[in-house]
Amino acid sequence: MWISVASGKGGTGKTTVAVSLALSNKNTIYVDADVEEPNGFLFIKPVIKEEFSYTELIPLIHQNKCTFCGKCADACVYKAIAILKPVKKAIFFPELCHSCGLCSFVCPVEDAIEEVPKEKGRIRKGEKNGQLFIEGILNVGEASGTPLIRGMKKYIPHDKDVIIDSSPGTSCPVVESVGDTDFVLLVTEPTPFGLNDLKLAIEMVREMKLSFGIIVNKHEEGNNLIRDYAREEKITVLGEIPFSREIAEAYSKGIPVVDVLPDGKKFFVNIMEKIRKGVNASG
Ligand code: SF4
Ligand code: SF4
Repeated sequence: MWISVASGKGGTGKTTVAVSLALSNKNTIYVDADVEEPNGFLFIKPVIKEEFSYTELIPLIHQNKCTFCGKCADACVYKAIAILKPVKKAIFFPELCHSCGLCSFVCPVEDAIEEVPKEKGRIRKGEKNGQLFIEGILNVGEASGTPLIRGMKKYIPHDKDVIIDSSPGTSCPVVESVGDTDFVLLVTEPTPFGLNDLKLAIEMVREMKLSFGIIVNKHEEGNNLIRDYAREEKITVLGEIPFSREIAEAYSKGIPVVDVLPDGKKFFVNIMEKIRKGVNASG
């Protein structure tokens, strides 16, 4: 079973929840797909056993063969190619390229575009007390983490439960992180901003037809903002983590919530069981 942990906005405690879910349940792999700012390693503190470069193909336009017809630039939705016809020049912007290969596909001139490898980022694999860990680190200047996340997925073993820690928001890298997962756990906080961003995240997962549930972080008794919304929308709230100074201090020291929440392990085992039952029932 693959579970992605996402949130409509940053700062909701998504990573500490994802790490805690992985640490509490045996035979899981924690995958940090928040490739622009991976920080799961601060909590897991893994011993890195393997690190390698992840490359994808980008176009190299040979100006001596190019006829400057402009078909490649017209095809590129990311505007990564500009053809200056009057001065017969092709300009490529590698930061904007998403390595889709369409430009070389549409180019009518043989060998005018060569596809060459470019490093998008690095992938690290490690372990701590039997807990497997994979993270992607996007190279500075890359326009999108999507290709690296797509690449990371190829290195995830399929014989264990997988917890994918997505980046926050609802952009393309998040869609790539949560896509293909069996369940999306949306972490939110009970504030008007939290609710607003949760609604955007729910819109995304509903559009993708994914199973999902909510976990409320920083819950305070008497604040029913998320509970009321979830009830109206018939969405399951899988758990609530109380607002606590102790949890916040532990977070700042790299201690995941599972280690400070009373009965923390039981709490996250329970969440996993609820998810498993829901996935099995819908599958
Ligand atoms: S499609 Fe090919 S020939 Fe046309 S401008 Fe692009 S690289 Fe040059
Ligand atoms: S590979 Fe795709 S994104 Fe990159 S320049 Fe070509 S068409 Fe544009």
